[in-house]
Amino acid sequence: MSNNIGIYPGTFDPVTNGHIDIIKRAIVMFDKLYIVISNNTSKRTLFTLEERVAMLEHEFGNDSRVEIAVCSELTVNYAKKIGAKFLIRGLRAVTDFEYELQMAHTNRKIESEIDTVFLMTSSEYSYLSSSLIKEILKYNGDISQFVPKHVAIKMLEKI
Ligand code: ADP
Repeated sequence: MSNNIGIYPGTFDPVTNGHIDIIKRAIVMFDKLYIVISNNTSKRTLFTLEERVAMLEHEFGNDSRVEIAVCSELTVNYAKKIGAKFLIRGLRAVTDFEYELQMAHTNRKIESEIDTVFLMTSSEYSYLSSSLIKEILKYNGDISQFVPKHVAIKMLEKI
């Protein structure tokens, strides 16, 4: 029987407690969960690809159910290549919904065998986003409750 593989794509700039919550909940649904960092050149990021990989490795590198990868092509094409049938996305608020719906439809049009599975954010993380945390950092606010300690240290080094 083939393995049940899932893929959780994102920018992860940087990984937040909200992402980690989604990953932990998604892990139990699959034999293998790929966390895939999109190498999206049109998005300006605070952290390099290598730094983002390292932060995710720090968090999940010891878990044999998790693979961390970088993807420079369409996510659905990458998913097909690794044999993933399900794409995981997190939903925070209605503001996420429209964009995610559009993307899920487009992805299914391109690759009808791959479906998107949405996990609702846990209430304690519903307001969290990488961009908001970067904004707080910019004004020297306390980011320690939003990201793991090693990520907070890396963020402070960027100022
Ligand atoms: P992208 O640029 O692809 O949106 P992100 O790294 O911002 O990449 O997010 C990756 C995924 O994680 C998206 O589906 C996003 O909605 C979800 N996500 C981000 N923050 C949270 C959170 N606090 N709770 C639940 N899901 C989240």
